[in-house]
Amino acid sequence: MWQDKYTKAITLSYDDGIKQDIRLVHLLNKYHLKATFNINTGLSGSAFDFYIKGHRIEHMAFEDMITLYQGHEVAVHTVTHPHLTSLSVTEIEKEIIEDIKNIEQVFKQTPVGMAYPYGHYNDQVVDCIKSSGLRYARTVESNHKTTMQTDLLRFKPTCHHHDPKIDEIIDQFLAYDGDEPQILYLWGHSYEADVDQLWDYLEQLFRKISGHKDVFYGTNREVLL
Ligand SMILES: [Zn+2]
Repeated sequence: MWQDKYTKAITLSYDDGIKQDIRLVHLLNKYHLKATFNINTGLSGSAFDFYIKGHRIEHMAFEDMITLYQGHEVAVHTVTHPHLTSLSVTEIEKEIIEDIKNIEQVFKQTPVGMAYPYGHYNDQVVDCIKSSGLRYARTVESNHKTTMQTDLLRFKPTCHHHDPKIDEIIDQFLAYDGDEPQILYLWGHSYEADVDQLWDYLEQLFRKISGHKDVFYGTNREVLL
């Protein structure tokens, strides 16, 4: 448990398993940061590519993900990225359980968490996740806080990696020297770095949060569970 030695932890979370993850992981590794990658195992391959502001967003092949994500965590993002709140219980279970099975098969490890596609969830969806055995599920609701949370199946990230308040939050987190455990949890999509020209910004952000001796750097699983 990181809390035995540290009061503060930083973890990151990136969704969709797309090709910009390659450049992102190189940056994360350069600064010794750890992240969790939430993937849709039914969308791997070029047939499911899409466009945002003229940028082609390509899904990665499994064989590329296996080497790329080494040292990080792979988690569930459902098989096909549906709006889970509009599905039946059977359909929700299928989206989650098959993604778990596919990840086990490809990565030889059992995923323990997920991120909600589009951030959508309700009590029925949460019940399905609970019965699937997953132990945490991340929403997209920034709470701008770094305090510990008890409801890990409705986990609220500190903020998006390009949140207007991020500098203020990070400064407070880094300066904190109290006794209560704190988690800085950032999330995003690596394609946003291409679409919104954030690569320099992200490098500065990663440099700022990295290398602090009083901070534990871990994947979502290592930090939340
Ligand atoms: Zn997504």
